Amino acid sequence: MSSGIVPPKSGSPLRKRASLQAPTTAEIHGGPRTRQLQPARSLPGPPHCLKHFPVDLRTSMDGKYKEIAEELFCRSLADSEMRSAPYEFPEDSPIEQLEERRQRLERQISQDVKLEPDILLRAKQDFLKIDSAADLQLFKEQGEDLVDHLPKDRDVLLEREFQRVTISGEETCGVPFTDLLDAAKSVVKALFIREKYMGLSFQSFCKTTARFLQNLSEKPLALRMYEEIPETPVAADAPVHPPFADQHPYEKCDPESMPGDLGFGLKMVNGVVHVYTKQDITDKTTELDLPYPDFPTSFIHICKSWAYMTPTSDGISAKSGHAHILAGWRMLPIPVIKSFCYRRLQYLSSKFQMHVLLNEMKELAAQKKVPHRDFYNIRKVDTHIHASSCMNQKHLLRFIKRAMKKHLEEIVHVEKGKEQTLKEVFETMNLTAYDLSVDTLDVHADRNTFHRFDKFNAKYNPIGESVLREIFIKTDNQVSGKYFAHIIKEVMFDLEESKYQNAELRLSIYGRSRDEWDKLAKWAVRHKVHSNNVRWLVQVPRLFDVYKTKKQLANFQEMLENIFLPLFEATIHPASHPELHLFLEHVDGFDSVDDESKPEHHIFNLDSPLPGNWTEEDNPPYSYYLYYTYANMVVLNHLRRKRGFHTFVLRPHCGEAGPIHHLVSGFMLSENISHGLLLRKAPVLQYLYYLAQIGIAMSPLSNNSLFLSYHRNPLPEYLSRGLVVSLSTDDPLQFHFTKEPLMEEYSIATQVWKLSSCDMCELARNSVLMSGFSHRVKKYWLGPNYWKEGPEGNDIRRTNVPDIRVAYRFETLCQELTLITQAVQTEELETIQEEDSLTMSSSLNTR
Ligand SMILES: [Zn+2]
Repeated sequence: MSSGIVPPKSGSPLRKRASLQAPTTAEIHGGPRTRQLQPARSLPGPPHCLKHFPVDLRTSMDGKYKEIAEELFCRSLADSEMRSAPYEFPEDSPIEQLEERRQRLERQISQDVKLEPDILLRAKQDFLKIDSAADLQLFKEQGEDLVDHLPKDRDVLLEREFQRVTISGEETCGVPFTDLLDAAKSVVKALFIREKYMGLSFQSFCKTTARFLQNLSEKPLALRMYEEIPETPVAADAPVHPPFADQHPYEKCDPESMPGDLGFGLKMVNGVVHVYTKQDITDKTTELDLPYPDFPTSFIHICKSWAYMTPTSDGISAKSGHAHILAGWRMLPIPVIKSFCYRRLQYLSSKFQMHVLLNEMKELAAQKKVPHRDFYNIRKVDTHIHASSCMNQKHLLRFIKRAMKKHLEEIVHVEKGKEQTLKEVFETMNLTAYDLSVDTLDVHADRNTFHRFDKFNAKYNPIGESVLREIFIKTDNQVSGKYFAHIIKEVMFDLEESKYQNAELRLSIYGRSRDEWDKLAKWAVRHKVHSNNVRWLVQVPRLFDVYKTKKQLANFQEMLENIFLPLFEATIHPASHPELHLFLEHVDGFDSVDDESKPEHHIFNLDSPLPGNWTEEDNPPYSYYLYYTYANMVVLNHLRRKRGFHTFVLRPHCGEAGPIHHLVSGFMLSENISHGLLLRKAPVLQYLYYLAQIGIAMSPLSNNSLFLSYHRNPLPEYLSRGLVVSLSTDDPLQFHFTKEPLMEEYSIATQVWKLSSCDMCELARNSVLMSGFSHRVKKYWLGPNYWKEGPEGNDIRRTNVPDIRVAYRFETLCQELTLITQAVQTEELETIQEEDSLTMSSSLNTR
């Protein structure tokens, strides 16, 4: 390793291979390869790109950094001599030693800073900028809400020069070239497939990855299905809080003012809704021109995509689908690819460790330089939280006690045809308000819930009584969800109070009857359950087997119809479902929930019955649920896009437990996932999730009570490798103790894993990026250019993430993508093109 990029030897006999070297900064930014390479100089003296800085501010510090870096480098060399291999990092590196070293460095640097009057002066000036008496006066005048303004000039804060870790040499990836080629081909194919699936459904795909794939694709970018997000200008110095309309969005539910009726007809064909331009759906020719994913072709495609994971895959016929989906899943550990991906992931971890060793102080200094901003006042989104457990146990307890005081005589329940008041309900339980405590409530997960999802589910019943769950945490009950609405509004109020915390709450749609959506929407509109800090996701529990056994459903298609037809109707004729139309404005998309570790008796393959023929009492497998949710969402999104309505995304629980192949479905079909714990066991998938930058909402406290103890949680590992992870709470009712469960989550993670302030801010930034809040809102929260690649998209004044960190992530991703795509480029491109069933089945593309 060397600090500095080594220019390629021009006369190298292995010119072809030379392309495998780490890309230069110029390449990363899409510059021509032939350009004269500027030595990336960070030491000593002012870097050429930062010449406008006062020179004396940097020189002596840079010299110091160099000294420190060299010292670190020497020590790490000395350390590594004690190990058997240079890339092997000790499993349990003695924390005390590392810490002591870090502290010593910190002391050294702070002493150096004392000798740097210019730096001090500057920091002081920065500080004075906001804390001057005049500013304070201004704050008071503008009221609390406007306190969060931005320091004028972002450029003053730009800090892009840092110690880069680069690898030089002919074969930079540590495996034979043929192995690299095989692995790269499979990886590229998998990425192409995800790109197609995301494009078809209007879900987002990582821009950087798309740009690299573009180099391998013959089709110009313009022909792709997904489009640039339309721009609404937000000024660079706009405030951190976006302006919201004064009127409550549910204030005016007026069918008259809603978009008109298109008069389209609907019919579900083979589990997917088809749209017809006439109400009369018998005339096939009136079918609206939309991409309808049809079962066999798309499905073979799913099988095939995983058959791609092997370099030796033969042609796949429709008949052998069964064998292949099995094979596809088994193919993940094909030694060559697996070991390649494993090595890359190890490399990414080690590289990050080096990055932190060399740049920690600089990152910290960059954060300190930003006035006003710190971890407490940056945006955070709780990316995975269920509405029915979004309050903590103390909150629920107080709420129940209050209800017992205020609404004792209210009829809240019907037991065997007889109406019961709240008083009677508690009398039958032999309880008074005084008796109630957190202990009697008994909703918290404990040691008995570990690996017992059934016991955990029972914890949703306060005092073990399902009747209390029905009264207090359901939207559809005798009091039409009044209590639940109130308690959620209290949670919303707390979020608004905290200003910078937001949540994406999951509400349930079960698919048992056609009116569930309308009831849910009416609940939200009637009780005005809305907050600018909250977005909704709709979770569909995978409980077909339960409803089938109870004879509530005849086949699986009925469940799909109940879930999707109302959404299509509300899109075609909003005034026919006025509340639903309003409610959908605030819904991000779909989640799929249940215990993933439940055994699956079926494998989704070509012999699987179509949804209309799924009449057995067994539950369809995970991939079946996910596929049909995706397929219907594709059609719905196209219809909604045509009408100018916003589109939905798929964000399932995935990889919490159970088979690893759930993560394969998640990779292909969903914009991002919750949990992803099992990626730790699947290096190929983990590497793919990294390259595609798929968001993973992780909840280590929840995992700790259910599936994986805290110290084994892979979050810190994922984060170090550059996977897009965020922290979320899952179920504060069961897992958390305080009024700010998300902060609790950050606090524990930070303490257990010794995260730096930069790591925490990076997690928070990730949470906003992967959330469903609107593009416009994100511009205020993260910066007007947040969607741009690399440090250009970062605004440290809003995110408190140093540009250095963002640049490191971006350059590292670009280097991985270069490695992969250039390896493939050296081969004849045709090998990929010829198997171009990569493109969605032709019937999908031509429509
Ligand atoms: Zn969950």
